[in-house]
Amino acid sequence: MPKQCFPSVEEILVFEEELKVRGFRRISSVEFAKQFQRLSLVAPRPRVGRELGYIFYANWYTVFVWTTWLEKEQVAREEDAGWVLIAEGDKVLYFSHPIHRTKNFMHNLLMQARIACWKVRHRPLCPECSNFMNIVRGRALKQRFWKCGCKELHAGGKNKFQSWDYGLPEDIVKSLRPIREKRKKQYDALRAVGKEPHQAMLNRKRWGKRKQ
Ligand SMILES: [Zn+2]
Repeated sequence: MPKQCFPSVEEILVFEEELKVRGFRRISSVEFAKQFQRLSLVAPRPRVGRELGYIFYANWYTVFVWTTWLEKEQVAREEDAGWVLIAEGDKVLYFSHPIHRTKNFMHNLLMQARIACWKVRHRPLCPECSNFMNIVRGRALKQRFWKCGCKELHAGGKNKFQSWDYGLPEDIVKSLRPIREKRKKQYDALRAVGKEPHQAMLNRKRWGKRKQ
């Protein structure tokens, strides 16, 4: 595993400012505790400390940003990656690739947060029936689409779909291109030796959750 890079307090503050101007706020300790209690969450391995997280809400969707940064201890949690999620209530609809703590960690995390925030803020309306379109999974593991399932309201009687990148500003799409190309190369290299990408994700121990 490559060496972990640890963000500094200053970097965290700059990061927070960037999120705040986009309408994110810190997840409070009360919210954090309630969430754990309500869902009876159990970590896959023992964890200490409370991780700094941010939340953004618009159009019935919530974006969560997890930083690996432990607020009280003022250090980043070791061997952990950052994440950006989009959820509707308790249901996670999208999670970013894990953002590893390379030297560009804060930059990459901020970029993922900005993209998720943009998508939620601009959640598309169905061109046929004007209901919100929903984030749905595609056939590939990490693939996502926008979908409206209100067939009966559509002229052709069919579901409506939009690309996951629908309406995303050109400069963001451009900045994603090299990342996606690099990822595709990694996947191709894995497949060439008979391995499937995302195996680590599939093997990852999940958080336990109480039945509701
Ligand atoms: Zn529709």
